[in-house]
Amino acid sequence: MASKLISVLFVFIFCNANASIQAPKLKLNDGGEIPAIALGTWLGNNTQGRIQPSAQGTEVEVAVRWALEAGYRHIDTAWVYKTERQVGQGVKVSGVPREEVFITTKLWNDQHARDAVVPALRESLKNLQMDYVDLFLIHWPCGQFANQSYDLTDSLETWRGMMEAKRLGLAKSIGLSNFNQQQIQRVVDAGLDKPAALQIEVNLNLQQPELLAYCRAQDIAVMGYTPFGSLFYNKASKAAPAPRSDDPALVAIADKYNKTVPQINLRYLVELGVIPLPKSLTKKRIEQNLDIFDFQLTAEERKTLQSFDKGYRTIPQHKWLDHPYYPFEKN
Ligand code: NAP
Repeated sequence: MASKLISVLFVFIFCNANASIQAPKLKLNDGGEIPAIALGTWLGNNTQGRIQPSAQGTEVEVAVRWALEAGYRHIDTAWVYKTERQVGQGVKVSGVPREEVFITTKLWNDQHARDAVVPALRESLKNLQMDYVDLFLIHWPCGQFANQSYDLTDSLETWRGMMEAKRLGLAKSIGLSNFNQQQIQRVVDAGLDKPAALQIEVNLNLQQPELLAYCRAQDIAVMGYTPFGSLFYNKASKAAPAPRSDDPALVAIADKYNKTVPQINLRYLVELGVIPLPKSLTKKRIEQNLDIFDFQLTAEERKTLQSFDKGYRTIPQHKWLDHPYYPFEKN
């Protein structure tokens, strides 16, 4: 009897040790729900100067499968990342039913014409081997034709195309990325569907308190890209302000919770109400980045983390500086 009990206990402990982590979900303003963290799949934030590399072999497919096995239920991609095909393949081979996974993809800048939006999404869906995405975002407010000249299509026209994609059931929710407050407000004021989400850079160096407060007031979910900012030495430019991953204040907080500094970084973003999109192709890091839902920072710790906000952008956008719809401050 005793040995049976011990073996039952062993199976229970063993199973739980391997149980996947389920991230909480946030409500969207259109009635949907979005998981509180996603795996990022842009391969351009690398040490080769942010060129856009193609995936090597099946590395993204494998990362997506690892992520889903670990318990992620949200994957972020975009047409321009050239990773949609592997994201779709990763979902397939994971065995996790499609309807349990939240897929975000984005409309590229050369498809801003109202009539171009639905065909562009159909192409993304073909890449993904899916018949709908959960969230479709306008990637940038800056339209640009394939020949590099600027497309000045009014974003309200693009937004009407996005609404059509939603009406057709090709996207369950629609939103924006890299729009500033005035640009979002224009969409809100037009009396059209309200954007459900905004994807912007958010990390310790760029905490965007005003834009976050605005989105909170508008009930627009915020997804934070490049969530690690300049935390890692091999990614940080010389000009990037502190902290790095060996910052003593961060290490002390991490030690207290038996977590790593990247986990403290992600947990802080979650507590700011942001959905972080950490990208990794490394199994251990993918798993680690999800394991942030079993502790809470104190107000004092949040204050320490808040102090690193220097309004510094890790992902510079020189490309469209003179575009009339360029969304950021020009330094
Ligand atoms: P990021 O997620 O902040 O950083 C990715 C880098 O951090 C990778 O080199 C990764 O290395 C490393 N890393 C991840 N977890 C780690 C850990 N626990 N410890 C140590 N290193 C770790 O940067 P990002 O890729 O720029 O942003 C994330 C996602 O946001 C993108 O992939 C994309 O989906 C989205 N995004 C959107 C936009 C937009 O315009 N909407 C712009 C940029 C990014 P390994 O892969 O080698 O593990």
